Amino acid sequence: MDQKSYDILIAGGALLGSACAFFLREEGYTGSIAVVERDPTYARASSTLSASAIRQQFSTPENIALSQFGLEFFLDLPKRFGPESDIGFHKSGFLIMAGPEGQAQLEANHTIQTSMGANIALMEPADIKQRFPAIDTDGIAAACYGLDGEGWLDGALLLGALKRAAQAANVDYVHGEVVKIDRRDNTIQSVSLGDGQVIACGLLIDAAGPHAGKLAAFADIDLTVEPRKRTVFVIDCRTKVDLPLVADPSRVWVRPEGNMFIGGYSPPEEDDRSVEDLDIDHSQFEEFVWPALAHRIPAFEAIKAVHAWAGHYDYHCLDQNAVIGAHNEVSNFWFATGFSGHGLQHSVGTGRGIAELIVHGGFKTIDLSKFAYDRIPENRPLFEHNII
Ligand SMILES: Cc1cc2nc3c(=O)[nH]c(=O)nc-3n(C[C@H](O)[C@H](O)[C@H](O)COP(=O)(O)OP(=O)(O)OC[C@H]3O[C@@H](n4cnc5c(N)ncnc54)[C@H](O)[C@@H]3O)c2cc1C
Repeated sequence: MDQKSYDILIAGGALLGSACAFFLREEGYTGSIAVVERDPTYARASSTLSASAIRQQFSTPENIALSQFGLEFFLDLPKRFGPESDIGFHKSGFLIMAGPEGQAQLEANHTIQTSMGANIALMEPADIKQRFPAIDTDGIAAACYGLDGEGWLDGALLLGALKRAAQAANVDYVHGEVVKIDRRDNTIQSVSLGDGQVIACGLLIDAAGPHAGKLAAFADIDLTVEPRKRTVFVIDCRTKVDLPLVADPSRVWVRPEGNMFIGGYSPPEEDDRSVEDLDIDHSQFEEFVWPALAHRIPAFEAIKAVHAWAGHYDYHCLDQNAVIGAHNEVSNFWFATGFSGHGLQHSVGTGRGIAELIVHGGFKTIDLSKFAYDRIPENRPLFEHNII
């Protein structure tokens, strides 16, 4: 079998892989690029199983900047790719609430957010009640509400738009699973696919999402990014209620979706494990989601879960923040992964950052150097405190 060879090979062809490929061409990269994707239907990819929301409300300044670029890109998409590339962007703020124990962190986040120009209101319980009368503020000390620049979209449509644009810019999409990586000393030589094909590469980007840790292990590289399951429930509430995306201190969230709502629960670290399956955790609805929502939004007392799905967070165990850029020793092994539940909104900013590093030798727009791999072997976590 002839051995193919590419200057850049991207393992994983969903949002992160496609965004890297697209922006490499945008930034003027003229070498050959291929994206290897094991499942072109994306049935198990986080990018299509996501809640697809974007917010300005993070604690890491770089994450806020990535969201700001993401928003600009999403709103501008029809201009860039034509009117057929509508991604169904729906503008709505996030209402992130804190009890007394979370109030100081919420306020610290708010200071960082507003210093970066994000339009976020810090609310007392009376303000919440006035703006959203359906919400019971029992146990709530404060909340942050996005007055602008937040909302949600259709992740599958975004993926389709980026992938088509990358293909149109002469990026090859190869159907196959990377099952082996040939590393000699500190250089990646090639990858082997499940069908026996070997593809040589000058540089390999790990964009395998929740399975990025597994992919890195093929090259003997330590990366604790693992799949953590999140179940999303589709909720029918017969009473009409005006709600933004509500994140409750009970770790339950809910947001409108058409004439229904979707919502879910994020377990605390001690109950959260790496899981490969995508079986729906039905018990979470009775145990966590319904009780929290019935307490917080009295009209939700009589809700029904009419459907559910599960997806994997690309969970970075060190600090719930992304890993972006080259490995510290294996300099042609790169990362674009580890977003821990916020990678959809940060996909395009990350793709642009990776492309700037490769094409121009440094970040030109947002300085993403804090996300470098070095912090893993040096055990220097960069915690993101606003994970939903
Ligand atoms: C329930 C849920 C809700 C979420 N909500 C939000 C949200 O509101 N906002 C937000 O910004 N983010 C959200 N996220 C996170 C976001 O979806 C992910 O961070 C993002 O989609 C990651 O994209 P990715 O391309 O890295 O990973 P994926 O979409 O998982 O893509 C990785 C791809 O790599 C392929 N692959 C893996 N291993 C190999 C291999 N060995 N060879 C070849 N191909 C391989 C897979 O088939 C897959 O297509 C949510 C995630 C979940 C699960």
